[in-house]
Amino acid sequence: MGKRGPKPATKEELIVRFWSKVNKNGPIMKPGLGPCWPWTGSSNPKGYGGFRYGGCLVMAHRFAFTITKGPLRKGKRACHKCDYPPCVRPGHLFSGTQAENLKDCRKKGRIFTKLSDAQVRRIRTLYVPRKVSVRNLAARFNVTSSQIWHVVTGRQRMVPVG
Ligand SMILES: [Zn+2]
Repeated sequence: MGKRGPKPATKEELIVRFWSKVNKNGPIMKPGLGPCWPWTGSSNPKGYGGFRYGGCLVMAHRFAFTITKGPLRKGKRACHKCDYPPCVRPGHLFSGTQAENLKDCRKKGRIFTKLSDAQVRRIRTLYVPRKVSVRNLAARFNVTSSQIWHVVTGRQRMVPVG
């Protein structure tokens, strides 16, 4: 018997959980922008918040951007108008093109990749236990293994963010 993780959360549950870790009355870093909304969960050494769900770790400000403004376009990253890394206030975020951490961002952005119905059907056809692995398909469709797993087990196509 394989180990089964907890049931994937719905988009609404994830969003509620996300905002429950945000302090909406943080410091004012730039006058005119109003208070920053610092992430109160774990953060990386640079001060960016990390939000963990479904086996993935995403940057909190990126997640905030995605759930309020839609997915970031390829090569774009969520930047801070307030220059305050823990801040996740949507009005303080904009999509920019700084090359720094680009690869890392892109990798993390993969969890937001949407699979079309056609791709879902194709994955289900291609998947052959012990021959074509979940990992192999994940690389092929540029999504996470858990997304493929959800597709082939018919549990959920993906975490429906964005
Ligand atoms: Zn801010």
